[in-house]
Amino acid sequence: MKDTIISLLNKNRNNRFLKNKIELRCACGFIEKLTYFEFLSGGEFDFGQPLSVISPFISESVYDETINVTPLHLSKKCPACGEKITAVFPLSLEELITILKVNPPDPQMYV
Ligand SMILES: [Zn+2]
Repeated sequence: MKDTIISLLNKNRNNRFLKNKIELRCACGFIEKLTYFEFLSGGEFDFGQPLSVISPFISESVYDETINVTPLHLSKKCPACGEKITAVFPLSLEELITILKVNPPDPQMYV
């Protein structure tokens, strides 16, 4: 699954969404800002326990439809103190894959 994400990331290298930043904050006071791309492409993330939640896209005929949501946990070694910095990625695995699959690659790639 990690390979799938990384290959999708590489196809979406110029996707504006991946330029969003996530802030990592260590207990020692060290702060690092990484783009989504930088963080995920390093493969330093893990999958959390999938949760069942009520779908936010309930149609008129379907009630209580549940979907699986898998959280992504990011962890990285702090360059200042060597402790592990952990953060939860703002989107679930499913949301991330949907976004990466929907957005077409930047046309500049073919120039
Ligand atoms: Zn630290």
